Amino acid sequence: MGRAVFIDVGELERKPLHFDAVFAPGRIELPENWSQAGDLRAGGKAELLDKQGARVIRVSGSIAVAVQNECARCLEELQEEFDADFELFFHPMETIARNEEKQIGREDAEIGFYEENGVALIDVVREQLLLWLPMRSLCGEDCKGICQLCGANWNRTDCNCREEFVDPRWETLRHMSFEN
Ligand SMILES: [Zn+2]
Ligand SMILES: [Zn+2]
Repeated sequence: MGRAVFIDVGELERKPLHFDAVFAPGRIELPENWSQAGDLRAGGKAELLDKQGARVIRVSGSIAVAVQNECARCLEELQEEFDADFELFFHPMETIARNEEKQIGREDAEIGFYEENGVALIDVVREQLLLWLPMRSLCGEDCKGICQLCGANWNRTDCNCREEFVDPRWETLRHMSFEN
């Protein structure tokens, strides 16, 4: 696994950087309750583009990883696997000030920024994972969830909690009927 890979602009001026890195679970900070189910593998290339004079870093390659979470409705563990190509562009931080953030809209979601002399590969990988990870995690679109009363998983079983629920107004009547 070795040292952390840093994509250095100064070095990219001389030649592109090829990387093949492995990140063990826990090294990359993931959002919400996501965690890696195993090693993440990232392979590819970083190079410098001369885009309108700005020193834009293009990072492309592929990332393979399995991540896990629990279903937001039924709390069962679920796993998502990614094994796909990616391409990200990192602009120098000072260009935002100059361009006043105006062109940075939704369609530029794959644009990131780097400060000073470059960006760490781990931050590039994390950026891509954030784009891939679903906002809401469900084991399936049709997940029925769990019963709030008995905890039964409605995907696997039914429970009688709803039928046993007695309307408090009827409860009062039931007591009254014994008086006299
Ligand atoms: Zn579920
Ligand atoms: Zn129930």
